[in-house]
Amino acid sequence: MKYVSTRGQAPVLEFEDVMLAGLARDGGLYVPESWPTFSAEQISALRGCSYQEIAFQVMFPFVSSSIEEGEFKELIEQAYSSFAHRAVAPLVQMDDNLWLLELFHGPTLAFKDFAMQILGLLMDRALIKRGERATILGATSGDTGGAAIEAFRGREQIDIFILHPHGRVSDVQRRQMTTAQEENVFNIALEGTFDDCQAMVKGLFNDHEFRDGMKVTGVNSINWARIMAQIVYYFTAAVALGSPNRPLSFAVPTGNFGDVFAGFVAHKMGLPIKTLAVATNVNDILVRTLETGTYKPDGVTATYSPSMDIQVSSNFERLMFEMAGRDANRIASLMNDLSEKGEFQLSENELAPMRDLFVGLRINEDETVSRIKAEYEDNHYIIDPHSAIALEAGVRCLKGNEDTPMIALATAHPAKFPDVVTKATGADVLQPARLVAQLKSEERVTRLPNDLAEVSQFIGDKTRAGKVA
Ligand SMILES: *Cc1c(COP(=O)(O)O)cnc(C)c1O
Repeated sequence: MKYVSTRGQAPVLEFEDVMLAGLARDGGLYVPESWPTFSAEQISALRGCSYQEIAFQVMFPFVSSSIEEGEFKELIEQAYSSFAHRAVAPLVQMDDNLWLLELFHGPTLAFKDFAMQILGLLMDRALIKRGERATILGATSGDTGGAAIEAFRGREQIDIFILHPHGRVSDVQRRQMTTAQEENVFNIALEGTFDDCQAMVKGLFNDHEFRDGMKVTGVNSINWARIMAQIVYYFTAAVALGSPNRPLSFAVPTGNFGDVFAGFVAHKMGLPIKTLAVATNVNDILVRTLETGTYKPDGVTATYSPSMDIQVSSNFERLMFEMAGRDANRIASLMNDLSEKGEFQLSENELAPMRDLFVGLRINEDETVSRIKAEYEDNHYIIDPHSAIALEAGVRCLKGNEDTPMIALATAHPAKFPDVVTKATGADVLQPARLVAQLKSEERVTRLPNDLAEVSQFIGDKTRAGKVA
């Protein structure tokens, strides 16, 4: 499988190079040259298989030119052995034809572990094979940093630097990052906001001398390998509920559009998905775009669901590429409009097929809290605010579509957001044992000013990449 950039000006690459590159050189995002497809018989054959087996079947077509079958199977076993549930991604019934897909049994209690755990192993393997080292650099407002550190701690060939805004992430989220004791993990508490952290990372990536010299790469949600790993649970959930014979729908709590794009890929690969509900909080750029065709970033509002507090939704570019008939020039021109005019306008031809599959739903703060409360009172089940947004959207979509099963994605464990959950339910949230242990360990973090030269110097001093051993 070869990969092309959505903007058409970057080299065509194989899986391993795409994974190590992160972003394409032309500013675009890598996508497979074509989508592998599964026949109805092939989908039927997945019934009753383990999560790991389905993961192999679904992902292997994307990686087969870079890794051999037996080795890939071993990596999958290893990646998902860190999950605290045998089913890896269990389904829980919430109501008639309404289900919750629990994606929070990984080591950091959020769905980002699904992609990060396998990405950590794949990257380390690729670098060992090449005899290279790399520096991973990222900014986080919460879940991504913890999941990345958990996946890359102690890896031979990699040093990881994660920036978070000093004093602006939750206690649980900070400790999940700073309690890693391994020498290859560096937490930077930047004196600034999350936007400052992102601008800093962008600035460092744009410094090509620094980037090439330190072998800097990124693991944010635009990395194709992350999307790939997220396709798997759409398959496991669908076959458990009767696919390919029964069409079904998903409600996905959405920020950067990575998770719901993985659902789109599952649809492309042959899964009979009727609707993908794009559930957002009040940061609703995607809902507005689906309604009006105008993509226009606005300010960010802080909400109970911080992992969806975004201004731009990077992976949406991958969907636009598909909707524009894979016309890279069209995408380059739209993205140029975005940077010059602060917005772009999709055509009717691009919007119509989008609206056939996607529906946007905006769930506000009160509706989020009400949904958490209702599930606790009626179902004795505690959900986190991100999952609540998905479930609320799912309930709304079911109206008038009662015959189609609806699966809402539960992306975080409620123990990560105890304040709002306790506010909604009046109940204390039980902390899983692994979290209790983690929160007690000693913290390692370096506080730095919002200054490019200082941060760059710090990373240059500490990383092992790009230096003579
Ligand atoms: C990252 C995240 C999301 C949003 O996922 P995207 O792929 O960015 O759309 C939703 N919920 C939680 C808990 C997350 O960590």
